[in-house]
Amino acid sequence: STQEKTPQICVVGSGPAGFYTAQHLLKQHPQAHVDIYEKQPVPFGLVRFGVAPDHPEVKNVINTFTQTAHSGRCAFWGNVEVGRDVTVPELREAYHAVVLSYGAEDHRALEIPGEELPGVCSARAFVGWYNGLPENRELEPDLSCDTAVILGQGNVALDVARILLTPPEHLERTDITKAALGVLRQSRVKTVWLVGRRGPLQVAFTIKVPRPRKRLTELLLRTATEKPGPEEAARWASASRAWGLRFFRSPQQVLPSPDGRRAGVRLAVTRLEGVGEATRAVPTGDMEDLPCGLVLSSVGYKSRPVDPSVPFDSKLGVIPNVEGRVMDVPGLYCSGWVKRGPTGVIATTMTDSFLTGQMLLQDLKAGLLPSGPRPGYAAIQALLSSRGVRPVSFSDWEKLDAEEVARGQGTGKPREKLVDPQEMLRLLGH
Ligand code: FAD
Repeated sequence: STQEKTPQICVVGSGPAGFYTAQHLLKQHPQAHVDIYEKQPVPFGLVRFGVAPDHPEVKNVINTFTQTAHSGRCAFWGNVEVGRDVTVPELREAYHAVVLSYGAEDHRALEIPGEELPGVCSARAFVGWYNGLPENRELEPDLSCDTAVILGQGNVALDVARILLTPPEHLERTDITKAALGVLRQSRVKTVWLVGRRGPLQVAFTIKVPRPRKRLTELLLRTATEKPGPEEAARWASASRAWGLRFFRSPQQVLPSPDGRRAGVRLAVTRLEGVGEATRAVPTGDMEDLPCGLVLSSVGYKSRPVDPSVPFDSKLGVIPNVEGRVMDVPGLYCSGWVKRGPTGVIATTMTDSFLTGQMLLQDLKAGLLPSGPRPGYAAIQALLSSRGVRPVSFSDWEKLDAEEVARGQGTGKPREKLVDPQEMLRLLGH
């Protein structure tokens, strides 16, 4: 059938999940055509807007994604928000199959009083700010205080702590935005606390193999329980900046100061109950107030529903699916954080996306996808143009990329990110 010859497949989202799903489909099916739709004018999702600027090696996956985008059977359409500019039913009509890989764009709220006070922000927004995410570019966090408290102890919390404490001159040659670097240069933050409900053995840092896990645990315990030797103690005393982990503490309230700003965080002391998977942190009844001038909540990302026609489990924050097949909707698939929830590194997302691609191709082979030709992008292009939406192609992105690299050159940065979508579109003559 025609479908067997040229399956038209569309992927929503151009982060690791979108690109790895596309890569698998293109590699395993010699005729498949894949269009990737992305709401930002630029590709790569959290590789660009999440991964910390001082971890450039992690961003090498962009080379692989670029190869995929260069395939004659793949196209990138940025500046198209699915659910707003085009609906999922419209995509399903135009393509043989649709894969939702739109990640987790929201953050989990703390749901405690005072969360809305000035000086409290989500780690997600803070990360978006230093990485040039358009919606967070004007965040300008107030770093005029000397203590910051991060609520959460996962990888994102660690990234944020590191960026707050790294001497700004060590960030000068990264792709951190100029604006963020300026604010960090003025920062007076000296101490960062990372607060967690549970203990050292439950921290959510990603550790790849058991040996480093054991070492990290030993290091944590040694630092926490042993007195430093004289040399170590002298080094600690002379350090201009410090961080620490506060275990077994659960945030109850952000404390307001008389002028209506935040003054600190009230924490309930907890202890662990139960064993194994059932271990829970329960309050002991003791309270502790931790004074601080900045509160960053880092208790997780969260996916949003994209379109009323797509089932969504708002409790788990994922699209209900079996191995990437969206429940009860034939021809609709999902991969990445919106499939599994917002945990796991890029490598986890890769494995998971290849699996979704495999399920899709199995269904295609079994004749479970619509038969007959589908118009693919031609139909969507007509819809978008009637709605005044102008997509950004991959070669458009390459022009923006070259502009960013050129802007970084004078200052020794790998790039100076463009942060204003209007400016990006202007540069492209849109
Ligand atoms: P995303 O990367 O979020 O991609 C989703 C894409 O979909 C985005 O481009 C988004 O703009 C787009 N989108 C959203 N809604 C729509 C819509 N309606 N229409 C069209 N497009 C849409 N992993 C590592 O291996 N190493 C690290 O150092 C590392 N650091 C991290 C730091 C932070 C702060 C975070 C949050 C994560 C980090 N990770 C790291 C994890 C890694 O980023 C994720 O595993 C991976 O990005 C998840 O891929 P994804 O494609 O599901 O989501």
